[in-house]
Amino acid sequence: MKQWYFVIDVAKCHDCNNCFMACKDEHVGNDWPGYTAAQPRHRHRWMNILRRERGQHRRNDVAYLPMPCQHCENAPCIEASKGSIYRRDDGIVMIDMEKAKGNKALVDSCPYGVIYWNDESDIAQKCTMCAHLLDDKSWQPGIPRCAHSCPTGSLKAYYIEPEEMEKMTKEEDLKAYKEELNTKPHVLYKNLHKFTKNFIAAGVLVDEDCFENAEVTLKSNGNVIATQKTNFFGDFKFDGLENGLYQVDIDAEGRKTSLEVKIEDESKNLGYIKL
Ligand code: SF4
Ligand code: SF4
Repeated sequence: MKQWYFVIDVAKCHDCNNCFMACKDEHVGNDWPGYTAAQPRHRHRWMNILRRERGQHRRNDVAYLPMPCQHCENAPCIEASKGSIYRRDDGIVMIDMEKAKGNKALVDSCPYGVIYWNDESDIAQKCTMCAHLLDDKSWQPGIPRCAHSCPTGSLKAYYIEPEEMEKMTKEEDLKAYKEELNTKPHVLYKNLHKFTKNFIAAGVLVDEDCFENAEVTLKSNGNVIATQKTNFFGDFKFDGLENGLYQVDIDAEGRKTSLEVKIEDESKNLGYIKL
């Protein structure tokens, strides 16, 4: 049976907040009976955009991670809710506004922190994937408001068979955020390493000049894990690295050096390496 999924490309998200604003526009002040109550104007971020800065000036970058409800297949919130949170046949996880009333503990049942408490309505709330619109066949875009408003193509919604999603996951190397939780989310990320992993970067100078096409080899435990050539500015950057000890070998037409670099939850800008 077809299911709803979000696919989010971290490399394409520019933190424009269009998705966040579209969510507000759809839900603030609007009750959607049978789906969810109106979202309060402040504090709720059903489409929350997380930020992580990496590296040091001038080899630094910033990645944004749009974080709606992950619509998990193995949802801890459903387990904890005793029937007040449920999963629809199309994969969308919903909070039952009647059964969940007054149950503030539901907010802490989500390991992703995407459930918010509404004091005014006395209920827990979160992203519904705009289920009220998806069920309304007259809604022409046919996708949630956030996905419809994303100008960069970072955030996309798909209504497809699980097998098709599996295929896309493999082909596009999509990943679950916090995979270790084994929640089987229906939100999958492309280029997630930009948010969750680290890089080693530097520039190579030979006789005080940027050196293009130096060979740079990255090793771990004596094994080569990647090679690169420096660019026009003499720069190289190995991304997607786990914590650990690395060796960086540089060969600029016979001028050589070797460095040990430890990655521990932070990316490293090694500055200029002079040969
Ligand atoms: S992300 Fe949180 S609220 Fe959403 S389905 Fe998973 S556990 Fe439940
Ligand atoms: S609308 Fe798209 S690019 Fe803008 S913040 Fe949302 S996901 Fe990122």
